[in-house]
Amino acid sequence: MPDFDLVVRGGTVVTASDTFRADVGVRDGRIAALGDRLTGAETLDAGGLLVMPGGVDTHCHIEQLQEAGGADEETWESGSRACLAGGTTSVVTFSTQFKGGGILEPLAEYRRRAGRAMVDYGFHQIITDASDDVIWRQIPQVVSEGVRSLKVFLTYDPLHLDDRAFIRVLAAARRAGALVTVHCENYDAINWRTEALLADGRASPKYHAWARPRMIEREATHRAIALAEMVDQPIQIFHVSCSEVAEEIARAQHRGLKVWGETCPQYFVSVASDMDRPGFEGAKFMCSPAPREAGDHEKLWQDVRRGTLDVISSDHSGWSYGGTRGKRVNGEDAPFRDIPNGMPGLAARLPIIFSEGVAKGRIDPQKFVALTATNPARLFGLAGKGSIAPGMDADLVLWDPARKTTLTNALMQHAIDYTPYEGLEVTGWPVATVLRGRVAMRDGKVRAEPGSGRFLARGPYDLIQPTGVLAHDFDASQFA
Ligand SMILES: [Zn+2]
Repeated sequence: MPDFDLVVRGGTVVTASDTFRADVGVRDGRIAALGDRLTGAETLDAGGLLVMPGGVDTHCHIEQLQEAGGADEETWESGSRACLAGGTTSVVTFSTQFKGGGILEPLAEYRRRAGRAMVDYGFHQIITDASDDVIWRQIPQVVSEGVRSLKVFLTYDPLHLDDRAFIRVLAAARRAGALVTVHCENYDAINWRTEALLADGRASPKYHAWARPRMIEREATHRAIALAEMVDQPIQIFHVSCSEVAEEIARAQHRGLKVWGETCPQYFVSVASDMDRPGFEGAKFMCSPAPREAGDHEKLWQDVRRGTLDVISSDHSGWSYGGTRGKRVNGEDAPFRDIPNGMPGLAARLPIIFSEGVAKGRIDPQKFVALTATNPARLFGLAGKGSIAPGMDADLVLWDPARKTTLTNALMQHAIDYTPYEGLEVTGWPVATVLRGRVAMRDGKVRAEPGSGRFLARGPYDLIQPTGVLAHDFDASQFA
């Protein structure tokens, strides 16, 4: 009788702290041993490969419900396929609230749809309408069901919250023991600039970036941090696009606040001028915050190396370029204001960050693992995920660090008809993905079954507890 169900043999194991040669022995879906010459019923040869924790993508939009009815083009099946193709085994995606509605029914619908998932998954609960019932009754309920993070937008119609509503959400999160994630851009500033641009006849995709310059992201980040400090509620700032914004986070961290920063691959390889391509093509690169300038990429890597930004997720938000459902939903002549925001990136995330980061000598492999798996798993309370050690879930990616690949849309395996990274050369590629001990992708072929993913109910955890430092020692969140 072999000792293990599966042995990953002869590879170089990389965790957030160490790199070492070991076989990985898996039993009942968990890592049971790290050792030498282990024997298993099944063996996966990892000679010459890195063996890393499966990627954890804590910001991606999959099969998100649309207010007009229906859902995103990216379904749980296609989205899971893209994840596994790119070495990702767990995601935290979103459950939406529509203004005037509650959050319990949508969450039940998201749970139902995610029954087709082939990766493990959790949800952030988006709050767009901070009604008394949502704040006092429904938020505690979804948190108790294992949805231990809330998401708020400080911009976007009709999603955005004003400061008062945002404060109420922070207070509700503090009472319930949840993390709050924040999309930081200044709503009124964007609307004012958009009006001016359109009045001046500047409507093409490139003006998307003009409508939301970096100081409006910096201002909203500063404000979000100050309000979270007042409530004493931990927050993560989503998709930091440039160093000026990271600087606000660094200052907060320096003061001892529980403020974390996330960034995404597009802010290391895309630039504002991508939106200035001929015709409608610039729409492919529209996302918010907008990609900045080439000179910003290196500064953002510095913020990553310093640890100011400690999570890199995809913010996958796919809208096809052709057809009438995606980027062209309002026609090809639509002003930038009416073109859906977002870029697909589930499968591209790990290859781009490994290539730009590790292969180009900007970070070491341990840091890569920390940014893409260990840190997001810790910050969002995904127990058993994001590392390689006995007792952890056997979620692994076997990685060829030397393989050179030119990214194409076909390699992405998502439902979207384009990738913004078409033609990008990367060094380093996932050759196999293992989810809880089962080989779910090998040589680009996904062999998981719909429904094999599990819901990750997240319980309370220490990292996101408030600091206890309150203005005037008064905990207003107990009363309002
Ligand atoms: Zn997003």
